[in-house]
Amino acid sequence: MRILIVEDEKRLANILKKGLEEEGYAVDVAYNGEDGLFMAEQEPSDVVILDIMLPVIDGLTVLRSIRKLGIKTPVLMLTALDTVTDKVSGLDSGADDYLTKPFLFEELLARIRALLRRDSAVKTSVIEIGDLVIDMATREVRRGGREVRLSAKEYALLEYMALNRNKTLTRTALSEHLYDHDFDLDSNVIDVFINRIRNKIDRGFGKKIIRTVRGAGYILQG
Ligand code: CA
Repeated sequence: MRILIVEDEKRLANILKKGLEEEGYAVDVAYNGEDGLFMAEQEPSDVVILDIMLPVIDGLTVLRSIRKLGIKTPVLMLTALDTVTDKVSGLDSGADDYLTKPFLFEELLARIRALLRRDSAVKTSVIEIGDLVIDMATREVRRGGREVRLSAKEYALLEYMALNRNKTLTRTALSEHLYDHDFDLDSNVIDVFINRIRNKIDRGFGKKIIRTVRGAGYILQG
């Protein structure tokens, strides 16, 4: 999953980027509203974390512009402004959630997970696909009751596929949601990760969960 942070406090932006990357997310950062708006348009983000008080273009204007362009990416407003009026205008401008600084990183993570599963059928942090169980909160994966150990990127790929189950996902789409803007995309990288995940979750099981769609990409069936 890929997250865009629009935040002008560089220290906070960098702490968030590092923390989210440790959780396996791909993270892009914009330090002002203009760059943020541009990146929200250009990059296939899964969640946008948007500050309100921003240089060049303020966060509420960025948010309204994003929505006017028809971009439906979930937006979490992150701001020091904590009056009711500010919260209301944020939500009325198209924000999906609101978090007031200072906040606990754990709470931000839980809110991001809630936004990521918003459009899928999954309503709690646990995704169940047959005997495959993925807990988004603890990042624990089990198949047939047995624990499966995945690296951060393997987990991120599996989680993205599980939240988009039964859809054919191209290698390009998968890598775009797994890596940030600065990553030099190599088309083989997704195949390598898929093979590793298959060895861990599908090998030895009669029903294969990940299927190759010839000439197109991959699909997680369930
Ligand atoms: Ca700010």
